[in-house]
Amino acid sequence: MPGDSTITVHADRDIHPSRAVAPPIYQTAAFWAEDGESFAAGAVAPRGKDFYTRFGNPNHAQVAAVVAELEHTETALVTASGMAAVTTAVLALVSAGDHVIGQRSTYGGTASLLLNLLPRLGVATTLVDQTDPEAFAKALTPQTRLILVESPSNPLLQITDLRAVVDLARAHDVLTMADNTFATPLNQRPADLGVDLVWHSATKYLNGHTDVSAGVMAGRAELLDRIWDVGLLTGATLGPIDAWLLLRGMRTLPLRVSRHNANGLALAHVLHEHPAVSRVHYPGLTSHPQHELAAGQMSGFGGVLSVEFAGGYETADAFLGRLRYPRLSASLGGVESLAVHPASMWRGMLSEEQIAEAVPPGLIRLAAGTEDTADLVADVLAAADAAST
Ligand SMILES: *Cc1c(COP(=O)(O)O)cnc(C)c1O
Repeated sequence: MPGDSTITVHADRDIHPSRAVAPPIYQTAAFWAEDGESFAAGAVAPRGKDFYTRFGNPNHAQVAAVVAELEHTETALVTASGMAAVTTAVLALVSAGDHVIGQRSTYGGTASLLLNLLPRLGVATTLVDQTDPEAFAKALTPQTRLILVESPSNPLLQITDLRAVVDLARAHDVLTMADNTFATPLNQRPADLGVDLVWHSATKYLNGHTDVSAGVMAGRAELLDRIWDVGLLTGATLGPIDAWLLLRGMRTLPLRVSRHNANGLALAHVLHEHPAVSRVHYPGLTSHPQHELAAGQMSGFGGVLSVEFAGGYETADAFLGRLRYPRLSASLGGVESLAVHPASMWRGMLSEEQIAEAVPPGLIRLAAGTEDTADLVADVLAAADAAST
């Protein structure tokens, strides 16, 4: 098995080979067929790459090949956003009368899918405290079909014991699906621990340049075929140019992630020591209550951390205003550092009450980019100093 940096450069090589070193962009909505028989076959080929772009496109297939090899899964499916990946998958795998378990600390869109959309379709949901080892088992019912986990979680960086959830799910014939956006396949491979489906907001680290919205779902072909089938109806198709950009971004994923890991850890350390800071959430800190669990299933801890200030929201807001390099933005995982106040960010997807349940009001999420560590540390310390005086 080649290493990660070789995979990201070469795993797509045999998909539509040409003599171009960089893959061409297949900017076409449709492909022509040689004859009626191959046309009819194209209409039913799951994740095909040359029938109609909503059904699949060579640029999608190239991205999927790299993601599947990185995540150690049989195959992968590319979608127009992370939310398209998870919503399409959940709609493909559950029906009215079924029950789904998710986490209380989870991305706002996933929380809204669980709290708002699924119950409206007759699918019952339970959100549990992922840090409580018993919580998933207690939530299980005879109708449970699916457990959605996210580790580390956005934005609290809480860790889910992936092995324990897999053991529980397998014993009860329940599928597991992990949001691996924060970790990336470089830091964590849920499929190696037995998770059935692994998905990403490829908008974040996988693309890494904050210029594409995309999603991926990786897993066994049998499951991906069912998800692809519903994807024909949700129609959340990634445009060929965006798929090409995503592939180009992924070429440097291992290089970028090692810098993100180093910068995340450095910022967590200095903020943890700062007198104005009451709490830093980062699984790489030995003071993180689940550090050992994280270290047992991750090989690096990523670039995202969140910070609470002793002075509450006012100090947090002043801190945001004083930062020079990290700008105020809803995204993460790109080369540029970004910062955000999650309680403001998710107001489009969740009610005030739902947000209050999910995040502390003054919490700031920092996403370390790939800038020089010393520059970021100096900037963040200066902002914390200024905000607290
Ligand atoms: C951003 C994000 C999503 C949603 O992805 P989109 O590409 O914006 O649809 C899902 N999960 C996590 C952890 C995220 O950070």
